[in-house]
This record gives sequence, structure tokens and C-alpha cells, in this order.
Amino acid sequence: MRSTSRAVFVALLGALCLLPLVPAGATRSVVGDVFGVVCVAAGLYGAWRIPGPARRGWMLVTVGFAGWALGDVVYSVEQYGIEPAAYPAPSDVPYLSSYAVLAAGLLHLARGRRMRSDPTLILDASIVALSFGVVVGTFLVSPVASDSAVPVLGRIVTSAYPIADVLLLAVLVRLWATASLRSPSFRLLVVALLSVLVADLTWNVMAIADPAATSPAWLDQLWLLGYLAAGAAACARSAPALGEDGLSVDAGTRANRRLAALGCALVLPGATLLADGLLGHQPPWLLVSIGSVALSMLVLARMGVLVRTVEVQAVQLAALARSDGLTGAPNRRTWDHELGRAVQQAEDTDAPLTVALIDLDHFKRYNDQRGHQAGDLLLREAVAAWSSLLAPHELLARYGGEEFGVLLPGSTTERACELLDTMQGLTPYGQRFSAGVAAWDRGAEPSRLVELADRALYEAKHAGRARVRVAHAGCPDRGLPPLRIAFQPIVDLRDGTVVGHEALSRFPDGDPETVFAQAHRSGQGPALEATAIRAALAERPDEGYVSVNLSIGSLGAPEVEAVLPDDLQGVVIEITEQTDTDDWAAAIATLAALRGRGATIALDDWGKGYSNVERILRLRPEVVKLDRSLLAGLDGDSSRADALRALAEWARSMGAVVCAEGIETREQWAILRDVGIALGQGYHFGRPAFRVAPRTSVGATSAALVV
Ligand code: GH3
Ligand code: MG
Ligand code: MG
Repeated sequence: MRSTSRAVFVALLGALCLLPLVPAGATRSVVGDVFGVVCVAAGLYGAWRIPGPARRGWMLVTVGFAGWALGDVVYSVEQYGIEPAAYPAPSDVPYLSSYAVLAAGLLHLARGRRMRSDPTLILDASIVALSFGVVVGTFLVSPVASDSAVPVLGRIVTSAYPIADVLLLAVLVRLWATASLRSPSFRLLVVALLSVLVADLTWNVMAIADPAATSPAWLDQLWLLGYLAAGAAACARSAPALGEDGLSVDAGTRANRRLAALGCALVLPGATLLADGLLGHQPPWLLVSIGSVALSMLVLARMGVLVRTVEVQAVQLAALARSDGLTGAPNRRTWDHELGRAVQQAEDTDAPLTVALIDLDHFKRYNDQRGHQAGDLLLREAVAAWSSLLAPHELLARYGGEEFGVLLPGSTTERACELLDTMQGLTPYGQRFSAGVAAWDRGAEPSRLVELADRALYEAKHAGRARVRVAHAGCPDRGLPPLRIAFQPIVDLRDGTVVGHEALSRFPDGDPETVFAQAHRSGQGPALEATAIRAALAERPDEGYVSVNLSIGSLGAPEVEAVLPDDLQGVVIEITEQTDTDDWAAAIATLAALRGRGATIALDDWGKGYSNVERILRLRPEVVKLDRSLLAGLDGDSSRADALRALAEWARSMGAVVCAEGIETREQWAILRDVGIALGQGYHFGRPAFRVAPRTSVGATSAALVV
């Protein structure tokens, strides 16, 4: 409210206090009427200035008060005018019709305030109004309605006032119970309505006690205070400085007030009966008993709503306690619970059970580079994408920060690996994860299962990330595909003499690259590589050295160590690009140890995949093997030859020789020799060939090479 309006209303309040000084009778009536008209005129002006949709509600409210002020004027004319007062009188028309306008305005305001969907507000308002209605009905309506000395119309009109007051009270309670009605304008409105209601009901009581009574000055003041507060409310609402949601009351206080109001409402009918009996009246038993029954039913309905609300909230709370707030996935608590259940079920049914632990790779770096928000988004989207792949009986839980658990009852590790492969592809923003898989063995505790999966996850991380490892409690070679070793000669490019052979794995069921990739994904990569090395060493040709392949992630793996002899003279270990590593220090240390046992280290497939300059610098191989793709177009493009020459010189400066793979023609050989490449292999010199016939046991020697 602007300060001028505030000053006007404060002055009006002061003037109201002086009302008893005005001589009673017509003068005071006229002064009071003028006062009322001024107040409601100010209110109408204020309401008119209210912007937006609230204006209509406030206009109706102030018009309602204006109707009462008009009724006062007409009443004064009836009292002191020319005509003697008739009953019901003309003033009853503006008085009673104003109730309807006012109620419409209040409901309009209430509806605009997000109350529509809350049934408890209507129930509470009805409970208060009904119990109050029993009191009013007993003490105010019943005596009038049963007074046969008064004409029927007069009885109806006289009863209409307290009934209308009760209905207005119901609307007021509904408004009062709204959470956000703590602005000055609404508080003033509540004061206005309460003043009028209290004054009305008091007047009713006085009129019943003494039909010839005139209203005392303080009662007139109470009515006029209502008009004043209503006018001030409308003006305060129209002033932008005072928002309607200026103050808030905390939910606990509000609930306590509502409870107190409902408690009072509940005892009122009983108290009414008691009071009426004590006063020696004949209580209107029909009214009181019907009111009490209706009240009980309303309270029952209220309890029903309450119980339903509590139930819904309990379900929501339980869901919150079971799931992770960020991703919505089940949390660690649920994981522990479900894992215990799944293990129990596996014990009972003997069905397989597999768990996987997933950990996003380099997620700290992802957060550092793109921000925590982006990290959160990735976690959410990853969970959504992964969950879409799971069957209803399977579970994806957030195990911790960027770690997740997958519970796969009824699944083998093979199915788990397939699933994790698909999950890997669906992980958003090109992010990768490592995973450890463990299968349940009879009698194993849930914690043991997680421990195994965790260990496998650690191995997956250690082997270069972005892969799946399976924990095998038993035989490490379980389920390895059968393989045979073919040998391809490696020649000195100066004269074509054979200096060694590369051992190449061959599988009946697929190309070697795919079979190895699959083995690495399922955690059997080192075991398969070890098997190949064992066979290669057992079958190696007598002439020259033997070259075996080993992925950098399998360096130092126990399976591989187990098949490598102490003396590695004449053995070249070709580090392939099948896998990557993060632990370069460990890889370099292992290579140093292998060199110490006589091994020669070669870097395989140079020119594709991971095989970059960085690798050469880190691994310092004695041999760099050029990928066959670098030989394409060599014959007709001298710049390629120049590049290879530079490469050969650079390798030499690093202490390495270069071996070219995939030489198929005499021309290629000539060019490579001319640019200074020392070694070569390819169809031109010899295709890979088996040394032992199929099914011949490993280690049996057969001199002939089988092509
Ligand atoms: P590694 O490949 O070895 O798993 O590396 P990493 O960086 O993923 O692992 P590390 O355990 O070092 O870091 C995990 C990071 O995950 C640290 C933390 O910032 C991030 N993280 C954990 N929980 C949340 C989360 O709720 N939101 C976001 N944005 N990041 C998280
Ligand atoms: Mg981690
Ligand atoms: Mg991680």
C-alpha cells in the first residue's frame, strides 16, 4: 500500500475510534453510513486498479461490502426516515444479496490460488462450517424459525442472516487454509470478514434476547471496521510493492492451526447440546443429531484422504530409499538386498547366476574436461541406455560413484559378456567402461561373487580399460577355441635368405583378429595368447628365430609367463595392437625382463591402430614391423618410397630395424630394399604354412611344411 493510502486508512481508523462520541440515534447512523460509504468507495477504487485476473475477484468482494454499506444507508432511512420500518424491509435486499456476491468473489480468489486439486481444503471448510452451523442453528435460527408470532417471510429472512454468515465462514476457512495467503491484503480481508461475521452474529443474539434493542456504538464500530479493513485490503492488493505472497508460514505451524480449528469444530455440537440443556432450553435434537452424523462422516472422509496421502507418501519414501537420486537406478542398498535374494534363489533352483561390475573409464578426466554437470548427465543417460537392454528380472544398480552392478539371474558369463558388449556400444558420448564378470559357484557367498567381479574389473582396467574380464575360479583355459599355428618366413631383403618365421594362429571358426578380440572381451585373451605361444615354441622351425605375438595388455600375465621359457634367445616377441595399456611403466619393466632373458622385442602392425610414434619411443623395440597397408600404392608413388626411407632411417637412429609385412611382388621387394628396409615377409617369399598335420599332438615334429 502506498504511504498516502496508508495514511488515509490510519486516519479513518482514528475517526472510527471516535464514533462513540457522536450522539446516538440518527446522527450516529448518518456518520456511520458516510464512513462506510467512504471505506467501500476507497475499496472499489483500489480493486479497480488491481492488474491481471485477480481484479475480478477483488471487485466482487468490494462490491459485496459496498452492498452492505448501501444496506446500512437504506436501513437508516427505514429507521429514521419518513416511512415506518416494515419487516422484511427493503434493506434486507442489498444485505442478503451482498452475501452471494461476496462469496462469489472469495471463491474466485481462492480458485486463482492453486487450490483446486486439494480436497482437504473443502473438507476442512465444510467441517468447520457444519459444526458452527449446528451452534448457529441451535441458538440463532431455531428460536426464530419456531417463533409463530413472526410472519413466515419474516422468519425466513431473519434466519437467512445467520445461515448466510455460516456459509460465508466456510468460504473464509477455505481461503484461510490456503498456504500462500499470508500477504497483508489477505490478512486485512480476513480481518474484514471476521469483523462483519462477529458483529452480525452478536447482533443476532442481541436481537433474539431483546427484539427492540438498538445496536450499541462498539457493534457499529465492529461492522465499520470490516468495511475499513476490506477497503484497505483492496488498496493494499493493488499496490505493486506488497506482493500477495510476501510472507509465508511454515507447513508445521499451518498444519497445527488446521488441526486446532478442526478440533474446536468437532467439540462444538456436543458443547452446544450441553449449553442448551444447561440453559434449560429444549435443544433442537433433530438439527444437532443430523449435524453430528454429517460431521462424523465428513471427519471420516477427511481421515480417508489423510490415510491415502500417507500411503502415497510411504510408497514414495520407500522408492526414494531404494534408488539413487541422480540416475534413478536402484542404489547400493537395493543391490545388496537383491544380490542376497538372487544367490538364495540360485541355491534353491541350481540356475546360473552372473554378476558384473562396471566402472566408467577415466571418468574423473571426463568431469574435469566437461564439468560435473556433463558428468551427471552422462551417468543419467548411461543408466537409461543400459537399463533398456535388461529383462525385468535383471537389475542394474548404482554401486557407487561411477560404478554400477549388473545382476543377471539365469545368465551365463557368455551371455553377460554379450550384454556388456552391447552396453558398451550404447554408452553415450563415446564414453567407455571396464567391467568384471563373475559367475556364481554353489556355496559361494554374495560377497565372494562381488569380490571376484571386482578383481576381474581390476584386471580389465589393468589390461588397458574399455574391456570386459571374466573371473575364473577354476581352469584358466576353460572354453578356449582350438587353434593351429602356421609359420611364415621372414627374409633378409638384401638377398632373400630366411632369417626366421612368424608364428600365426589359425582358428577353424573365424579369422584370428575376431577370435582374439572376442577372447580379450571375455577375459580369456591372455590365456589364448599363451596357448598360441606354447604351440609356436613347440613347433618352431629349426632355421632362424621364431616370432610370436603378444598383446601389450597380456604382458606379464601369469598365463603367458607360464609358457615362456627362461631362455628366450632366438625368440622375437611382437607386441600387437590388440589391446592398449595405461600402465606403461609395468609394460616397460616386463619388456626389460624379457630382454634380459634374451628376447628380441618387435612392434607389430606399425602404421595402424595404436601403433604410433609414441609407442616406438616408449617401447624402444629392436624391430618395427610395418603394417601391410603402408605398402599399398608403393610401386607407382615415389613419395611413399621417400616416406618409407625416412622411416627406416629414423628407426635405425632409434636402434631398430624395419620389417615390412605383406610383400607380394618382386617390385615391392626391390623398392623396400632400395629405401633401406632390412627385413620383409609376404606371399612373395612364402605363405603361412602348418608344420604339423591336424590332430597331431603338440610337440610332435614333422619336418615337412604343410601349405
Ligand atoms: P578409472 O578409469 O580408473 O576408473 O578412472 P576414473 O577417473 O573413472 O576413476 P576414479 O575412481 O579416479 O574417479 C572416479 C570419478 O568419478 C571421480 C568423480 O569425480 C566421478 N564421479 C563419481 N560420482 C559422480 C557423480 O555422481 N557425478 C559426477 N559428475 N561424477 C562422479
Ligand atoms: Mg572408479
Ligand atoms: Mg572409473
